[in-house]
Amino acid sequence: MTKLDTTKSQAAFKEAQQYMPGGVNSPVRAFKNVGGDPLFIDHGKDEYIYDIDGNKYIDYVLSWGPLILGHADDQVVAELDKAVAKGTSYGAPTLQETELAKIVNKIMPSIEMIRMVSSGTEATMSAIRLARGYTHREKIVKFVGNYHGHSDSLLVDAGSGLATFGINTSPGVPDDLAYDTLTVAYNDVDGVKKLFADHGDEIACAIVEPVAGNMGVIPGTQDFLQTLRDVTKEHGALLIFDEVMSGFRAAYHGVQSLVNITPDLTTLGKVIGGGLPVGAFGGRREIMEQITPAGNIYHAGTLSGNPLAMTGGISTLKQLTPEDYVEMDKKVTALTDGIKQAADKYGVPMTVHHVGTMWSYFYNSDSINNFDDVRACDQKLFEKCFWELLAHGIYVAPSQFETNFISTKHTDEDIEKTIAAFDAAFNAAT
Ligand code: PLP
Repeated sequence: MTKLDTTKSQAAFKEAQQYMPGGVNSPVRAFKNVGGDPLFIDHGKDEYIYDIDGNKYIDYVLSWGPLILGHADDQVVAELDKAVAKGTSYGAPTLQETELAKIVNKIMPSIEMIRMVSSGTEATMSAIRLARGYTHREKIVKFVGNYHGHSDSLLVDAGSGLATFGINTSPGVPDDLAYDTLTVAYNDVDGVKKLFADHGDEIACAIVEPVAGNMGVIPGTQDFLQTLRDVTKEHGALLIFDEVMSGFRAAYHGVQSLVNITPDLTTLGKVIGGGLPVGAFGGRREIMEQITPAGNIYHAGTLSGNPLAMTGGISTLKQLTPEDYVEMDKKVTALTDGIKQAADKYGVPMTVHHVGTMWSYFYNSDSINNFDDVRACDQKLFEKCFWELLAHGIYVAPSQFETNFISTKHTDEDIEKTIAAFDAAFNAAT
C-alpha cells in the first residue's frame, strides 16, 4: 500500500471529534465507511485541493458538485471581494436576486418564477410544502436511493449518507410523515403506474432526481421519466425534478432539456451558488404565485437571496457556456473509458457511468439501474482502491453512493494522471 503522511489531519480529526458528532458537520465527510480518517483541507485552487499536511490532490469531489469552475476561480473571488466590501446581508431586496432569477430562467425556461433559499434541503422541503398546499393532498412519491436533503418527509429510503451508513429511515422522523411518503424503485415504470393507479388521487407530487447522483450516477430512463410526467398529469399531482445536483451539471440546460420533459417545479442548489450556500425552487408561475406574500403557502428565510450567495451564483453561471459542457463531457468520457480499460486489464469487475460532468464507477460488471444494483457492488474493493487513489494524489468521493464531478479547470494531463492512478490502484488491490 502506498503511504501518505496525514499526521496533521489525524490530530485535527481527533480534536474535532470532541466538539462535533463524528468530528464533522455532514456525515459522509468523515470517511467512516472507508475505514479511515478524513483529510482536513487547507485551501483549493482550480482543480486542486491541498490538505493541512501539505499534500496536493486532483479534486473530483469539488465540494460535492458546486465548484464547476474549480476552486477559488479568479473572477468569482474578485466579484465576491467586491460584494463583501459592500456588506454581507441586508434582509431587504437587492438587484442581484432578480439578476440570478433572470439568468436561471433564461437557461431553464420552465422556471418561470423562482424562490431562493440557502440549501438544497430547504429547496426540496419548500417545494414539497408548495405541492401539498397547491393540490390540497398529503402523500408524496419518492424513489429508493434518491436523496433530496434531510427534511423529515424526504428521509425515507434515501441515498447519499443514509445509503452509505446503511440507515433506512432516520430515527426522529415521525411515523405519520414517513407514512405519507410512498416509495418506488428507481426506473421502475410498472411500479410507478401501479402506485398511481392505487393512490393517484391522494398524491400531491412525485419528486425525482432525473439523473440520480446519490447512489452513484444512474440516469433515469426516458420511459421512466415520461411515465412519471404522464401519470402525475393524469392524476392532478405535480412533478418535481430535483436538479439540485444535476442542474448545470448533467447538462447546461438541466436534465429536463436532455429528456425534453417539463416538470411543474424544479429544485436547484450547488452550482447556482458557486460554492456559497444557495438553493432554489421554481417553476410554473401559477403554482409559484401561491407562495407568501403573493399567496398564502408559507415560505421565508433570513438569509434567502443573500447578496454574497447571489454573487457567487451569478459570477459562476455568467462564465459558463454550452461549449464548456462539450469540453467537460469529452474529458469525462476519456476518463471513464480509461478507468474501465484499466479495470479490464486487471480483471476488476466494473461498470462506469457518466452524464455530462457527473461520473461514477461501480465495482460490478452487471448493469446498474437502481439502488439494489449499487448495493451489490464490491464495497471492500472500493475501500482499498479509494486509499490507493488518495495516496496517488486523486481525491474522489469516499462512497460508492456518491457522484464524482469535473470542473472547467481539469486538463487532459489531469485525466491521464487519474487513469494512471486507477491503474496503480487496481494493480495494488488485486
Ligand atoms: N437534492 C439533491 C439531488 C442533492 O444531491 C442534495 C445534496 O446533495 C440535496 C437535495 C440537498 O442539498 P443540501 O445538501 O444543499 O441541503
